[in-house]
Amino acid sequence: MSDVLALYRIQQLELEIIAQTKRIKAIDLLLKDNAGLHEAEAAFESAKVAFDEAIKRANEMNLEIATLIDKKQNSETRLYSGEVTNPKEMQDLQMEIESLTRRNEVLDDELLRIISDRDACQATLNECETALNEIGEERKEENKNLLNEKKSLNSTVKTQLAQRKTAVKELPVELFKTYNVLRTKKSNRAVSVLKDDACTICGIEQNSTVITAINRSSGLVNCQSCGRILIKL
Ligand SMILES: [Zn+2]
Repeated sequence: MSDVLALYRIQQLELEIIAQTKRIKAIDLLLKDNAGLHEAEAAFESAKVAFDEAIKRANEMNLEIATLIDKKQNSETRLYSGEVTNPKEMQDLQMEIESLTRRNEVLDDELLRIISDRDACQATLNECETALNEIGEERKEENKNLLNEKKSLNSTVKTQLAQRKTAVKELPVELFKTYNVLRTKKSNRAVSVLKDDACTICGIEQNSTVITAINRSSGLVNCQSCGRILIKL
């Protein structure tokens, strides 16, 4: 293998390693990003709070109504017991019972509203719970796939790094230095393929001196425009 071909193969390996390392970083970000799940959790939590409050309101209203009914029954018992004979007291009791009955009707209506609100809160809570479970399952599956992909990428990158190391060892030290200087300047693409007498990276057609040099020599020939090392595959 010519030195230029060896350089070209090293460049291919490096570009693959760079691309795969980029993907590994992107996967790490995806694994960290649980925004959708956090939103579903927050929605579930606030629905739970609203439902608990609605239950509390319903219980309090039931208790208030029960107390009122007790009071009304006591007044009725006393009124019809025969113990009260004073007309003024009888009239007061009668008025109190009527007032309690009216209040009871108001509270019954209020209780209906509270129960309807509680049922709506329960329905919302159920929806939030279902959504949370679904997102949780989806994330679990996604994370599993991402972790598998990352594992496979890491293993490939490890192999490619070893291949690169071996290839670099076989190159003349000075040549690799030259390549590295050029690589830094040329966005990791120091070697360019010559196709139809043109550099495939910058697109410039090469003159006959360059073409002849490539055809004859196994040494380095640079693109007359971008300065990359040219290779004819
Ligand atoms: Zn070029």
